[in-house]
Amino acid sequence: MNANLFSRLFDGLDDPSRLAIETADGQHISYGDLMARAGQMANVLVSRGVKPGDRVAAQTEKSVAALVLYLASVRAGAVYLPLNTAYTLNELEYFIGDAEPSLVVCDPSKAEGIGPIAAKVGAKVETLGADGQGSLTQAAASVTAEFETVDRANDDLAAILYTSGTTGRSKGAMLTHDNLASNSLSLVDYWRFTDKDVLIHALPIYHTHGLFVASNVTLFARAAMIFLPKLDPDLIIRLMARATVMMGVPTFYTRLLQSPALTKESTRHMRLFVSGSAPLLADTHREWFARTGHAVLERYGMTETNMNTSNPYDGDRVPGAVGFALPGVSVRVTDPETGKTLGPDNIGMIEVKGPNVFKGYWRMPEKTKAEFRDDGFFITGDLGKIDGRGYVHILGRGKDLVISGGFNVYPKEIESEIDAMPGVIESAVIGVPHADFGEGVTAVLVCDKGAAVDEASVLKALDGRLAKFKMPKRVIVVDELPRNAMGKVQKNILRDTYAKIYVK
Ligand code: AMP
Repeated sequence: MNANLFSRLFDGLDDPSRLAIETADGQHISYGDLMARAGQMANVLVSRGVKPGDRVAAQTEKSVAALVLYLASVRAGAVYLPLNTAYTLNELEYFIGDAEPSLVVCDPSKAEGIGPIAAKVGAKVETLGADGQGSLTQAAASVTAEFETVDRANDDLAAILYTSGTTGRSKGAMLTHDNLASNSLSLVDYWRFTDKDVLIHALPIYHTHGLFVASNVTLFARAAMIFLPKLDPDLIIRLMARATVMMGVPTFYTRLLQSPALTKESTRHMRLFVSGSAPLLADTHREWFARTGHAVLERYGMTETNMNTSNPYDGDRVPGAVGFALPGVSVRVTDPETGKTLGPDNIGMIEVKGPNVFKGYWRMPEKTKAEFRDDGFFITGDLGKIDGRGYVHILGRGKDLVISGGFNVYPKEIESEIDAMPGVIESAVIGVPHADFGEGVTAVLVCDKGAAVDEASVLKALDGRLAKFKMPKRVIVVDELPRNAMGKVQKNILRDTYAKIYVK
Protein backbone atom coordinates (compact mmCIF):
# COMPACT_ATOMS: atom_id res chain seq x y z
CA MET A 1 0.00 0.00 0.00
CA ASN A 2 1.20 3.50 -0.81
CA ALA A 3 1.67 5.31 2.54
CA ASN A 4 1.62 8.69 0.82
CA LEU A 5 -0.68 10.94 2.89
CA PHE A 6 -2.40 12.00 -0.33
CA SER A 7 -3.29 8.38 -1.15
CA ARG A 8 -4.56 7.85 2.34
CA LEU A 9 -6.71 10.97 1.99
CA PHE A 10 -8.05 10.45 -1.52
CA ASP A 11 -7.82 6.80 -2.58
CA GLY A 12 -11.22 5.21 -2.62
CA LEU A 13 -13.03 8.54 -2.91
CA ASP A 14 -16.57 7.30 -3.36
CA ASP A 15 -18.40 10.52 -4.09
CA PRO A 16 -16.27 13.06 -6.00
CA SER A 17 -19.16 15.54 -6.05
CA ARG A 18 -19.18 15.86 -2.25
CA LEU A 19 -18.38 19.41 -1.08
CA ALA A 20 -14.91 19.80 0.43
CA ILE A 21 -14.39 23.55 0.65
CA GLU A 22 -16.56 26.61 0.48
CA THR A 23 -15.00 30.07 0.51
CA ALA A 24 -16.21 33.42 1.80
CA ASP A 25 -16.38 34.67 -1.81
CA GLY A 26 -18.71 31.88 -2.85
CA GLN A 27 -16.47 29.23 -4.44
CA HIS A 28 -17.54 25.63 -3.94
CA ILE A 29 -14.85 22.99 -4.38
CA SER A 30 -15.77 19.32 -4.34
CA TYR A 31 -13.49 16.46 -3.34
CA GLY A 32 -13.22 15.54 -7.02
CA ASP A 33 -12.18 19.13 -7.90
CA LEU A 34 -9.63 19.18 -5.15
CA MET A 35 -8.13 15.93 -6.35
CA ALA A 36 -8.04 17.16 -9.95
CA ARG A 37 -6.49 20.48 -9.02
CA ALA A 38 -3.87 18.70 -6.91
CA GLY A 39 -3.13 16.51 -9.96
CA GLN A 40 -2.68 19.53 -12.22
CA MET A 41 -0.48 21.31 -9.74
CA ALA A 42 1.59 18.18 -9.07
CA ASN A 43 2.25 18.01 -12.84
CA VAL A 44 3.44 21.62 -12.78
CA LEU A 45 5.74 20.89 -9.83
CA VAL A 46 7.29 17.97 -11.67
CA SER A 47 7.69 20.07 -14.82
CA ARG A 48 9.60 22.63 -12.70
CA GLY A 49 12.04 19.94 -11.67
CA VAL A 50 10.61 19.01 -8.26
CA LYS A 51 11.63 15.44 -7.45
CA PRO A 52 10.52 13.18 -4.58
CA GLY A 53 12.19 14.34 -1.37
CA ASP A 54 12.71 17.90 -2.69
CA ARG A 55 11.39 20.74 -0.56
CA VAL A 56 8.68 23.03 -1.90
CA ALA A 57 8.71 26.24 0.13
CA ALA A 58 5.56 28.37 0.13
CA GLN A 59 4.98 31.80 1.55
CA THR A 60 1.46 32.37 0.34
CA GLU A 61 -1.70 33.93 1.69
CA LYS A 62 -4.47 31.54 2.65
CA SER A 63 -6.47 30.40 -0.38
CA VAL A 64 -7.83 27.18 -1.82
CA ALA A 65 -4.94 27.22 -4.30
CA ALA A 66 -2.47 27.41 -1.41
CA LEU A 67 -4.07 24.32 0.14
CA VAL A 68 -3.93 22.62 -3.26
CA LEU A 69 -0.21 23.41 -3.39
CA TYR A 70 0.23 21.55 -0.10
CA LEU A 71 -1.73 18.55 -1.39
CA ALA A 72 0.11 18.61 -4.72
CA SER A 73 3.53 18.72 -3.05
CA VAL A 74 2.69 15.74 -0.88
CA ARG A 75 1.19 13.92 -3.85
CA ALA A 76 4.39 14.46 -5.87
CA GLY A 77 6.41 12.99 -2.99
CA ALA A 78 7.95 16.39 -2.21
CA VAL A 79 8.31 17.88 1.25
CA TYR A 80 5.96 20.81 1.82
CA LEU A 81 7.44 23.75 3.69
CA PRO A 82 4.92 26.47 4.58
CA LEU A 83 6.27 29.79 5.79
CA ASN A 84 4.54 32.35 7.96
CA THR A 85 3.29 35.18 5.75
CA ALA A 86 4.73 37.71 8.19
CA TYR A 87 8.35 36.64 7.59
CA THR A 88 10.55 39.34 6.10
CA LEU A 89 13.07 38.80 3.30
CA ASN A 90 15.82 38.68 5.87
CA GLU A 91 14.06 35.83 7.70
CA LEU A 92 13.22 34.05 4.45
CA GLU A 93 16.88 34.05 3.58
CA TYR A 94 17.55 31.86 6.62
CA PHE A 95 14.70 29.42 5.93
CA ILE A 96 15.44 29.08 2.24
CA GLY A 97 19.17 28.80 2.86
CA ASP A 98 18.59 26.13 5.51
CA ALA A 99 15.95 24.05 3.73
CA GLU A 100 17.38 24.37 0.20
CA PRO A 101 14.07 23.92 -1.60
CA SER A 102 14.01 23.29 -5.33
CA LEU A 103 10.97 25.53 -5.71
CA VAL A 104 9.79 28.60 -3.83
CA VAL A 105 6.21 29.81 -4.23
CA CYS A 106 5.42 33.34 -3.09
CA ASP A 107 3.02 36.22 -3.49
CA PRO A 108 3.53 38.02 -6.85
CA SER A 109 4.48 41.18 -4.93
CA LYS A 110 7.39 39.38 -3.27
CA ALA A 111 8.82 37.58 -6.31
CA GLU A 112 11.38 40.26 -7.05
CA GLY A 113 12.80 40.24 -3.53
CA ILE A 114 12.78 36.45 -3.20
CA GLY A 115 14.33 35.82 -6.63
CA PRO A 116 17.98 36.38 -5.61
CA ILE A 117 17.51 34.46 -2.32
CA ALA A 118 16.08 31.47 -4.18
CA ALA A 119 18.78 31.69 -6.84
CA LYS A 120 21.47 31.20 -4.20
CA VAL A 121 20.24 27.65 -3.55
CA GLY A 122 19.30 27.04 -7.18
CA ALA A 123 15.54 27.16 -6.51
CA LYS A 124 12.98 28.22 -9.11
CA VAL A 125 10.31 30.77 -8.14
CA GLU A 126 6.60 30.64 -8.96
CA THR A 127 3.90 33.00 -7.75
CA LEU A 128 0.53 32.55 -6.08
CA GLY A 129 -1.52 35.47 -4.78
CA ALA A 130 -4.24 35.75 -2.15
CA ASP A 131 -6.80 35.60 -4.97
CA GLY A 132 -5.42 32.22 -6.07
CA GLN A 133 -3.89 33.79 -9.21
CA GLY A 134 -0.26 33.64 -10.22
CA SER A 135 2.20 31.84 -12.46
CA LEU A 136 1.58 28.57 -10.63
CA THR A 137 -2.19 28.40 -11.12
CA GLN A 138 -1.83 29.80 -14.62
CA ALA A 139 0.47 26.93 -15.55
CA ALA A 140 -1.77 24.40 -13.78
CA ALA A 141 -4.85 25.45 -15.76
CA SER A 142 -3.47 24.06 -18.99
CA VAL A 143 -2.12 20.68 -17.89
CA THR A 144 -3.78 17.35 -17.28
CA ALA A 145 -5.23 16.40 -13.92
CA GLU A 146 -3.98 12.83 -14.33
CA PHE A 147 -1.15 12.20 -11.93
CA GLU A 148 0.07 9.02 -10.39
CA THR A 149 0.59 9.70 -6.69
CA VAL A 150 4.25 9.07 -5.88
CA ASP A 151 4.91 6.04 -3.70
CA ARG A 152 6.02 6.94 -0.21
CA ALA A 153 6.78 4.93 2.91
CA ASN A 154 5.34 5.78 6.33
CA ASP A 155 8.63 7.24 7.43
CA ASP A 156 9.26 9.47 4.40
CA LEU A 157 8.94 13.20 4.94
CA ALA A 158 5.73 14.95 3.96
CA ALA A 159 6.45 18.36 5.46
CA ILE A 160 8.94 20.50 7.31
CA LEU A 161 7.48 23.14 9.59
CA TYR A 162 9.80 25.62 11.21
CA THR A 163 9.09 26.14 14.90
CA SER A 164 8.12 29.65 15.89
CA GLY A 165 11.39 29.81 17.88
CA THR A 166 11.13 32.71 20.30
CA THR A 167 14.73 32.08 21.36
CA GLY A 168 17.52 31.26 18.96
CA ARG A 169 17.08 30.17 15.38
CA SER A 170 13.90 28.34 14.55
CA LYS A 171 14.31 24.69 13.71
CA GLY A 172 12.73 22.70 10.89
CA ALA A 173 10.55 19.93 12.34
CA MET A 174 10.53 16.97 9.93
CA LEU A 175 7.07 15.39 9.76
CA THR A 176 6.46 12.09 8.04
CA HIS A 177 3.47 10.87 6.06
CA ASP A 178 2.49 8.60 8.93
CA ASN A 179 2.96 11.31 11.60
CA LEU A 180 0.32 13.38 9.83
CA ALA A 181 -2.05 10.62 8.76
CA SER A 182 -2.09 8.71 12.05
CA ASN A 183 -2.68 11.83 14.13
CA SER A 184 -5.53 13.12 11.96
CA LEU A 185 -7.23 9.74 11.87
CA SER A 186 -7.02 9.51 15.62
CA LEU A 187 -8.60 12.98 15.97
CA VAL A 188 -11.39 12.14 13.51
CA ASP A 189 -12.31 9.35 15.87
CA TYR A 190 -11.77 11.16 19.15
CA TRP A 191 -13.72 14.24 18.11
CA ARG A 192 -16.37 12.16 16.27
CA PHE A 193 -15.96 13.79 12.88
CA THR A 194 -18.27 12.52 10.13
CA ASP A 195 -19.15 13.52 6.59
CA LYS A 196 -22.02 15.57 8.05
CA ASP A 197 -19.60 18.03 9.64
CA VAL A 198 -18.99 21.55 8.45
CA LEU A 199 -15.89 23.18 9.94
CA ILE A 200 -15.39 26.91 10.29
CA HIS A 201 -11.77 27.27 9.19
CA ALA A 202 -10.42 30.73 10.02
CA LEU A 203 -6.89 29.67 11.05
CA PRO A 204 -3.78 30.36 8.98
CA ILE A 205 -2.51 27.41 6.94
CA TYR A 206 1.22 27.84 7.51
CA HIS A 207 0.91 26.36 11.03
CA THR A 208 0.17 22.83 12.26
CA HIS A 209 -3.23 23.84 13.67
CA GLY A 210 -4.84 25.17 10.49
CA LEU A 211 -2.90 23.03 8.02
CA PHE A 212 -2.90 19.61 9.63
CA VAL A 213 -5.40 19.51 12.47
CA ALA A 214 -8.14 21.48 10.74
CA SER A 215 -7.63 20.58 7.08
CA ASN A 216 -6.48 16.96 7.31
CA VAL A 217 -9.12 16.02 9.87
CA THR A 218 -11.86 17.52 7.69
CA LEU A 219 -10.60 15.79 4.55
CA PHE A 220 -10.17 12.41 6.23
CA ALA A 221 -13.74 12.61 7.50
CA ARG A 222 -15.05 13.68 4.06
CA ALA A 223 -16.53 16.66 5.87
CA ALA A 224 -16.69 20.20 4.49
CA MET A 225 -14.90 23.34 5.58
CA ILE A 226 -15.70 26.99 5.18
CA PHE A 227 -12.38 28.63 4.41
CA LEU A 228 -12.11 32.17 5.77
CA PRO A 229 -9.05 34.34 5.21
CA LYS A 230 -9.01 35.57 8.82
CA LEU A 231 -10.93 35.87 12.06
CA ASP A 232 -14.12 37.81 11.38
CA PRO A 233 -16.33 37.43 14.48
CA ASP A 234 -19.60 38.65 12.93
CA LEU A 235 -19.23 36.44 9.88
CA ILE A 236 -18.25 33.43 12.00
CA ILE A 237 -21.29 33.82 14.23
CA ARG A 238 -23.55 34.03 11.16
CA LEU A 239 -21.91 30.89 9.72
CA MET A 240 -22.56 28.97 12.92
CA ALA A 241 -26.17 28.61 11.78
CA ARG A 242 -25.03 25.99 9.26
CA ALA A 243 -21.65 24.84 10.57
CA THR A 244 -21.01 22.17 13.18
CA VAL A 245 -17.42 22.61 14.40
CA MET A 246 -15.00 25.47 14.94
CA MET A 247 -11.30 25.15 15.70
CA GLY A 248 -9.59 28.21 17.06
CA VAL A 249 -6.79 29.64 19.13
CA PRO A 250 -7.86 31.22 22.45
CA THR A 251 -8.00 34.69 20.88
CA PHE A 252 -10.90 33.46 18.71
CA TYR A 253 -12.88 32.72 21.84
CA THR A 254 -12.14 36.00 23.60
CA ARG A 255 -12.92 37.98 20.45
CA LEU A 256 -16.17 36.11 19.76
CA LEU A 257 -17.25 36.63 23.37
CA GLN A 258 -17.13 40.38 22.76
CA SER A 259 -20.01 40.08 20.32
CA PRO A 260 -23.53 40.27 21.76
CA ALA A 261 -24.60 38.07 18.84
CA LEU A 262 -22.89 35.08 20.49
CA THR A 263 -25.74 33.28 22.25
CA LYS A 264 -27.18 29.84 22.90
CA GLU A 265 -29.42 30.42 19.90
CA SER A 266 -26.67 31.45 17.47
CA THR A 267 -24.54 28.41 18.43
CA ARG A 268 -27.42 25.93 18.48
CA HIS A 269 -26.37 24.19 15.27
CA MET A 270 -22.76 23.73 16.44
CA ARG A 271 -21.66 20.48 18.06
CA LEU A 272 -18.02 21.20 18.94
CA PHE A 273 -15.66 24.06 19.72
CA VAL A 274 -11.97 23.15 19.86
CA SER A 275 -9.22 25.36 21.26
CA GLY A 276 -5.46 24.98 21.22
CA SER A 277 -2.01 26.39 20.36
CA ALA A 278 -1.98 28.51 23.51
CA PRO A 279 -3.62 28.25 26.94
CA LEU A 280 -7.33 29.01 27.07
CA LEU A 281 -8.04 30.94 30.26
CA ALA A 282 -10.27 29.02 32.64
CA ASP A 283 -12.42 32.16 32.80
CA THR A 284 -12.90 32.18 29.05
CA HIS A 285 -13.91 28.52 29.19
CA ARG A 286 -16.54 29.27 31.85
CA GLU A 287 -17.81 32.41 30.17
CA TRP A 288 -18.16 30.56 26.87
CA PHE A 289 -20.17 27.84 28.58
CA ALA A 290 -22.41 30.37 30.31
CA ARG A 291 -23.10 32.21 27.05
CA THR A 292 -23.48 29.30 24.65
CA GLY A 293 -24.04 26.15 26.68
CA HIS A 294 -20.98 24.60 24.98
CA ALA A 295 -17.90 23.48 26.91
CA VAL A 296 -14.88 24.30 24.74
CA LEU A 297 -12.75 21.21 24.12
CA GLU A 298 -9.14 22.14 24.78
CA ARG A 299 -6.33 20.07 23.32
CA TYR A 300 -2.55 20.27 23.43
CA GLY A 301 -0.05 19.82 20.66
CA MET A 302 2.98 21.31 19.06
CA THR A 303 4.63 21.56 15.65
CA GLU A 304 7.01 18.70 16.48
CA THR A 305 4.41 16.29 17.83
CA ASN A 306 1.07 17.09 16.20
CA MET A 307 -1.64 16.62 18.84
CA ASN A 308 -0.74 14.90 22.10
CA THR A 309 -3.71 15.26 24.43
CA SER A 310 -7.35 16.23 24.28
CA ASN A 311 -10.18 16.76 26.68
CA PRO A 312 -12.79 14.06 26.18
CA TYR A 313 -15.67 14.28 23.74
CA ASP A 314 -17.96 12.77 26.34
CA GLY A 315 -17.17 13.50 29.92
CA ASP A 316 -15.63 16.43 31.75
CA ARG A 317 -13.88 19.08 29.66
CA VAL A 318 -11.94 20.64 32.49
CA PRO A 319 -11.21 24.39 32.27
CA GLY A 320 -7.44 24.96 32.39
CA ALA A 321 -6.59 21.32 31.60
CA VAL A 322 -5.66 19.84 28.23
CA GLY A 323 -7.15 16.40 28.79
CA PHE A 324 -5.85 12.89 28.29
CA ALA A 325 -3.15 11.41 26.07
CA LEU A 326 -4.68 10.54 22.69
CA PRO A 327 -4.95 6.84 21.84
CA GLY A 328 -1.51 5.49 20.93
CA VAL A 329 0.28 8.48 22.48
CA SER A 330 2.19 8.14 25.75
CA VAL A 331 2.61 11.20 27.94
CA ARG A 332 4.72 11.33 31.10
CA VAL A 333 6.04 14.00 33.42
CA THR A 334 9.68 13.78 34.47
CA ASP A 335 12.08 15.47 36.80
CA PRO A 336 13.91 17.97 34.55
CA GLU A 337 17.24 17.18 36.22
CA THR A 338 17.20 13.42 36.70
CA GLY A 339 14.74 12.47 33.96
CA LYS A 340 12.91 10.21 36.45
CA THR A 341 9.16 9.79 35.89
CA LEU A 342 7.11 11.67 38.48
CA GLY A 343 3.84 10.62 40.07
CA PRO A 344 0.44 12.33 39.90
CA ASP A 345 0.30 16.05 40.62
CA ASN A 346 4.07 16.51 40.58
CA ILE A 347 5.26 19.29 38.31
CA GLY A 348 7.97 18.48 35.79
CA MET A 349 8.84 18.23 32.13
CA ILE A 350 6.21 16.85 29.77
CA GLU A 351 7.53 14.12 27.48
CA VAL A 352 5.66 12.33 24.70
CA LYS A 353 6.09 9.30 22.50
CA GLY A 354 3.95 7.89 19.71
CA PRO A 355 3.36 7.76 15.96
CA ASN A 356 2.56 11.49 16.12
CA VAL A 357 6.10 12.50 17.14
CA PHE A 358 8.30 13.99 14.41
CA LYS A 359 11.44 12.45 12.95
CA GLY A 360 13.82 15.14 14.16
CA TYR A 361 15.05 18.61 13.31
CA TRP A 362 16.17 19.20 9.74
CA ARG A 363 19.95 18.97 9.52
CA MET A 364 20.34 19.29 13.29
CA PRO A 365 21.25 15.79 14.50
CA GLU A 366 22.78 17.09 17.74
CA LYS A 367 19.76 19.20 18.64
CA THR A 368 17.50 16.27 17.79
CA LYS A 369 19.51 13.89 19.96
CA ALA A 370 19.43 16.32 22.87
CA GLU A 371 15.65 16.50 22.83
CA PHE A 372 14.92 12.78 22.82
CA ARG A 373 15.39 10.35 25.71
CA ASP A 374 17.04 7.01 25.04
CA ASP A 375 13.66 5.27 25.24
CA GLY A 376 12.25 7.42 22.43
CA PHE A 377 10.35 10.03 24.43
CA PHE A 378 10.51 13.59 23.08
CA ILE A 379 11.18 16.29 25.66
CA THR A 380 8.56 18.89 24.81
CA GLY A 381 10.00 21.78 26.78
CA ASP A 382 6.59 22.30 28.41
CA LEU A 383 6.24 22.09 32.16
CA GLY A 384 3.17 20.43 33.52
CA LYS A 385 1.59 17.75 35.64
CA ILE A 386 -0.85 14.89 35.32
CA ASP A 387 -3.54 14.95 37.97
CA GLY A 388 -5.03 11.98 39.81
CA ARG A 389 -7.74 11.61 37.16
CA GLY A 390 -5.18 11.52 34.33
CA TYR A 391 -5.81 15.04 33.00
CA VAL A 392 -2.68 16.79 31.77
CA HIS A 393 -2.15 20.40 32.87
CA ILE A 394 0.34 22.73 31.14
CA LEU A 395 2.17 25.15 33.39
CA GLY A 396 4.11 26.98 30.70
CA ARG A 397 7.27 26.58 28.67
CA GLY A 398 10.33 25.41 30.61
CA LYS A 399 12.24 28.45 29.48
CA ASP A 400 9.56 30.65 31.05
CA LEU A 401 10.19 29.11 34.47
CA VAL A 402 11.31 31.79 36.92
CA ILE A 403 14.08 30.99 39.37
CA SER A 404 14.04 33.51 42.17
CA GLY A 405 16.38 33.21 45.15
CA GLY A 406 17.07 29.63 44.07
CA PHE A 407 13.40 28.64 44.14
CA ASN A 408 11.42 27.50 41.12
CA VAL A 409 8.41 29.68 40.46
CA TYR A 410 5.86 28.36 37.96
CA PRO A 411 4.29 31.38 36.23
CA LYS A 412 0.94 29.67 35.69
CA GLU A 413 0.36 29.31 39.43
CA ILE A 414 0.68 33.04 39.98
CA GLU A 415 -1.15 33.93 36.77
CA SER A 416 -4.13 31.81 37.86
CA GLU A 417 -4.31 33.68 41.19
CA ILE A 418 -4.12 37.07 39.49
CA ASP A 419 -6.54 36.16 36.68
CA ALA A 420 -9.16 35.21 39.27
CA MET A 421 -9.16 38.74 40.76
CA PRO A 422 -12.09 40.99 39.91
CA GLY A 423 -11.25 43.49 37.18
CA VAL A 424 -8.30 41.47 35.83
CA ILE A 425 -8.64 40.11 32.29
CA GLU A 426 -5.33 38.24 32.01
CA SER A 427 -1.76 38.24 33.19
CA ALA A 428 1.71 37.07 32.28
CA VAL A 429 4.31 36.36 34.94
CA ILE A 430 7.96 36.59 33.89
CA GLY A 431 11.37 36.55 35.51
CA VAL A 432 13.75 39.41 34.85
CA PRO A 433 17.30 39.96 36.12
CA HIS A 434 17.41 40.97 39.79
CA ALA A 435 20.60 41.79 41.68
CA ASP A 436 19.66 39.87 44.86
CA PHE A 437 17.38 37.11 43.65
CA GLY A 438 18.83 36.24 40.25
CA GLU A 439 15.40 36.75 38.76
CA GLY A 440 12.63 38.91 40.09
CA VAL A 441 9.06 37.61 39.74
CA THR A 442 7.24 40.24 37.70
CA ALA A 443 3.55 40.30 36.83
CA VAL A 444 2.25 42.10 33.76
CA LEU A 445 -1.51 42.34 33.56
CA VAL A 446 -4.42 43.60 31.54
CA CYS A 447 -7.52 44.91 33.33
CA ASP A 448 -11.08 45.80 32.45
CA LYS A 449 -11.49 49.43 31.42
CA GLY A 450 -11.84 51.60 34.51
CA ALA A 451 -11.13 48.73 36.94
CA ALA A 452 -9.57 49.84 40.21
CA VAL A 453 -6.63 47.47 39.91
CA ASP A 454 -3.08 48.61 40.57
CA GLU A 455 0.17 47.25 41.94
CA ALA A 456 -0.80 47.79 45.56
CA SER A 457 -4.22 46.15 45.26
CA VAL A 458 -2.81 43.10 43.48
CA LEU A 459 -0.02 42.63 46.02
CA LYS A 460 -2.51 43.02 48.86
CA ALA A 461 -4.83 40.42 47.35
CA LEU A 462 -1.95 37.96 46.84
CA ASP A 463 -0.59 38.40 50.32
CA GLY A 464 -1.12 35.21 52.30
CA ARG A 465 -2.21 33.27 49.21
CA LEU A 466 1.29 32.73 47.83
CA ALA A 467 4.57 31.80 49.50
CA LYS A 468 6.75 34.88 49.91
CA PHE A 469 9.28 33.76 47.26
CA LYS A 470 6.52 33.54 44.67
CA MET A 471 5.18 37.03 45.31
CA PRO A 472 5.71 39.42 42.40
CA LYS A 473 8.24 42.12 43.15
CA ARG A 474 6.59 44.38 40.64
CA VAL A 475 3.09 44.44 39.12
CA ILE A 476 2.70 46.32 35.86
CA VAL A 477 -0.64 47.12 34.26
CA VAL A 478 -0.65 47.35 30.44
CA ASP A 479 -3.30 47.76 27.72
CA GLU A 480 -2.55 44.43 26.07
CA LEU A 481 -0.05 41.57 26.10
CA PRO A 482 2.15 41.01 23.03
CA ARG A 483 0.95 37.97 21.09
CA ASN A 484 2.01 36.13 17.95
CA ALA A 485 -0.36 35.11 15.16
CA MET A 486 -1.31 31.89 16.97
CA GLY A 487 -2.37 33.80 20.07
CA LYS A 488 0.67 32.90 22.15
CA VAL A 489 1.81 35.52 24.63
CA GLN A 490 5.37 36.49 23.69
CA LYS A 491 7.06 36.42 27.07
CA ASN A 492 10.44 37.00 25.44
CA ILE A 493 9.22 40.46 24.37
CA LEU A 494 7.99 41.19 27.90
CA ARG A 495 11.33 40.05 29.34
CA ASP A 496 13.15 42.41 26.96
CA THR A 497 10.80 45.27 27.75
CA TYR A 498 11.25 44.97 31.51
CA ALA A 499 14.85 43.70 31.50
CA LYS A 500 16.16 46.68 33.43
CA ILE A 501 13.51 47.32 36.07
CA TYR A 502 15.53 45.80 38.93
CA VAL A 503 19.05 46.63 37.80
CA LYS A 504 20.25 50.14 37.35
P1 AMP B 1 3.50 25.40 18.20
O1 AMP B 1 4.65 24.51 17.86
O2 AMP B 1 3.60 26.75 17.58
O3 AMP B 1 2.20 24.75 17.91
O4 AMP B 1 3.57 25.64 19.75
C1 AMP B 1 3.49 24.57 20.64
C2 AMP B 1 3.42 25.06 22.05
O5 AMP B 1 2.20 25.77 22.28
C3 AMP B 1 3.39 23.93 23.05
O6 AMP B 1 4.67 23.41 23.30
C4 AMP B 1 2.77 24.62 24.26
O7 AMP B 1 3.73 25.37 24.96
C5 AMP B 1 1.76 25.57 23.61
N1 AMP B 1 0.41 25.01 23.60
C6 AMP B 1 -0.24 24.39 22.61
N2 AMP B 1 -1.49 24.05 22.99
C7 AMP B 1 -1.64 24.48 24.26
C8 AMP B 1 -2.70 24.44 25.21
N3 AMP B 1 -3.88 23.92 24.93
N4 AMP B 1 -2.45 24.98 26.44
C9 AMP B 1 -1.27 25.53 26.74
N5 AMP B 1 -0.24 25.61 25.89
C10 AMP B 1 -0.42 25.09 24.66
